[in-house]
Amino acid sequence: MSPNSSTDRILIAGAGPVGMITGLALAQAGVPVTVFDTLADVPADHRASTLHPSTLAMVDRLGMTGSLIEQGLLSPIFQFRDRVAGRLVAEFDYGNLADDPTVEVPYPFALQVEQHKTILTAYGIAKDLPDFQILREHTVMEVAQDADGVTATVETADGARQEFSGRFLIGCDGGRSQVRKVLEIDFPGFTWEERFIIVSTHYDFEAADGFGYRNYLAHPERWSALIKVPGEEKEGVWRSLFPAFGDAPDEEVLTDDWIQARYRECLPYDPPYEILHRNLYMVHQRVAASFRAGRVLLAGDAAHVNNPVGGMGMNSGIHDGLNLADKLVRIWRGEAEAEVELARYDRQRRPMAEKYVQAQSIRNKELLQETDMAVRQQRLDELAATAGDPARHRAFLRNAALYTMIEEADAIE
Ligand SMILES: Cc1cc2nc3c(=O)[nH]c(=O)nc-3n(C[C@H](O)[C@H](O)[C@H](O)COP(=O)(O)OP(=O)(O)OC[C@H]3O[C@@H](n4cnc5c(N)ncnc54)[C@H](O)[C@@H]3O)c2cc1C
Repeated sequence: MSPNSSTDRILIAGAGPVGMITGLALAQAGVPVTVFDTLADVPADHRASTLHPSTLAMVDRLGMTGSLIEQGLLSPIFQFRDRVAGRLVAEFDYGNLADDPTVEVPYPFALQVEQHKTILTAYGIAKDLPDFQILREHTVMEVAQDADGVTATVETADGARQEFSGRFLIGCDGGRSQVRKVLEIDFPGFTWEERFIIVSTHYDFEAADGFGYRNYLAHPERWSALIKVPGEEKEGVWRSLFPAFGDAPDEEVLTDDWIQARYRECLPYDPPYEILHRNLYMVHQRVAASFRAGRVLLAGDAAHVNNPVGGMGMNSGIHDGLNLADKLVRIWRGEAEAEVELARYDRQRRPMAEKYVQAQSIRNKELLQETDMAVRQQRLDELAATAGDPARHRAFLRNAALYTMIEEADAIE
C-alpha cells in the first residue's frame, strides 16, 4: 500500500445526497475534495422524495435549485387525513411562509423529486470543478488520524487496498456508517417494531380524491403516507408507505397479494393497483453520541437516522453537510481555528437533531398510529385548530420545514 500523494484535501466517505452536496459546496469554494463511494452508480431506489423550502434555499447558492425545480413537482400543500372518520383533518400550505415576517423564504413550497435526481444534480455541477474528485467502487474501511491529518484505507472492487490522506474526513456513509464504527462512536436510540414498506403505482389519487402531493393518513392500525413524485418520464408516480406489522416473513410482505390488501385497507379507491416498485426496510431513531472525533466528522444518516414521516432525514442531513462545509472553508482559508469550528459543528447540529428531527418525526408517526381513540381525537382536533389559526399555522410550517431548527442551531456559539 502506498499513501496517495494528494494529501492537501478533504476526504468524504459516501456519495449519497449528503456527501455529494457537501463535496460540491467545498469544491465550489476552492477546497479540494475526494469523495469515495462503494457503488458503481447512483441507485434509483425509493428513498427520500421531498426537499423542504429551507433546503431549496440552501442548495440555491450551489446552483442546484433551478434544475431541481425543472425536474420536480411543486408541492406547497400537505394534508393530514383521518382514515377512521374519512375526513380531511388539516391542510398546511407552505405558501403561508411567503409573507412570514420572521423568516425569509424564497421558495415557499416543498419540491417533490426523487433522491437520486438530487444527487445527480449536485454531481452534474461538481464533476466539472477542478477541485472535485469522485472515486466509485472505493469503500472506506479504516480511518487513522494524527495532529496534522487523516488517512483512509480504501478497498476497491477487486479487493485491493490503498491509502488516501487528507486534512479532514467526513463520514457521509449512511446509517450503517463504517466511519462511525471504526471511530467507535455509539449510535443510541431504538428500532421501530414494525417494518416499513414503500410501494408505488401510477394510479392518480389526486383525481380520485383530491389528495395533495404529500399526505399523511391516520389510522390506529393501518396508517399510511401517500406521496407523489415525478417519475422518470414526469408521468407522475404515487408512493405509499405502509407499516408491516407482525411476523409475516419479508418474502410474504413483498408479494402482490399482501400489498394489494394494504392498498385496499388504507386507500380503497380502485383496486387492484398496478405495482411499480416495492421496498421493505427497518426504521430506526438514533443519534450518534458525537458528530466529531478529532479531524473526522459525521453528517447525514451516518450521524442520525429517523422514520420518514415528515421527510426530515435527507433534508437535515444536507443541512449538516452545508453547515460543516462553511466551517471547513473558513478553516481552510485560515479564517478560523479548526478546534473551535469543529467543536461548534457538534454543538450546533447534534442536540438539534435530537430536539427537532428525532422528536418531530416520532411525534408525526405517533399522531398517525395513535390507538387510544380519545387521545387520537384530541390530537387530530389540535392539528385542525393549528391549521386554522394563521399564526400557529406558520409556526407549524417553520418547524416542519426545519427553519426553527436551523435558527436555533445557528445561534449556538
Ligand atoms: C428504504 C429507505 C427509504 C427512505 N425513505 C425516505 C423518505 O421517504 N423520506 C426521507 O426524508 N428520508 C427517507 N429515507 C432516508 C433518506 O434516504 C436518508 O436520510 C438519506 O439518504 C441520507 O443521505 P446520506 O447521504 O446521509 O446517506 P445515504 O443516502 O445512505 O448515502 C450513503 C452513501 O455512502 C455509500 N457508502 C456506504 N458505506 C460506504 C463506505 N464505507 N465507503 C464509501 N462509501 C460508502 C453508499 O453507497 C451511499 O451512496 C429513506 C431511507 C431508506 C433506507
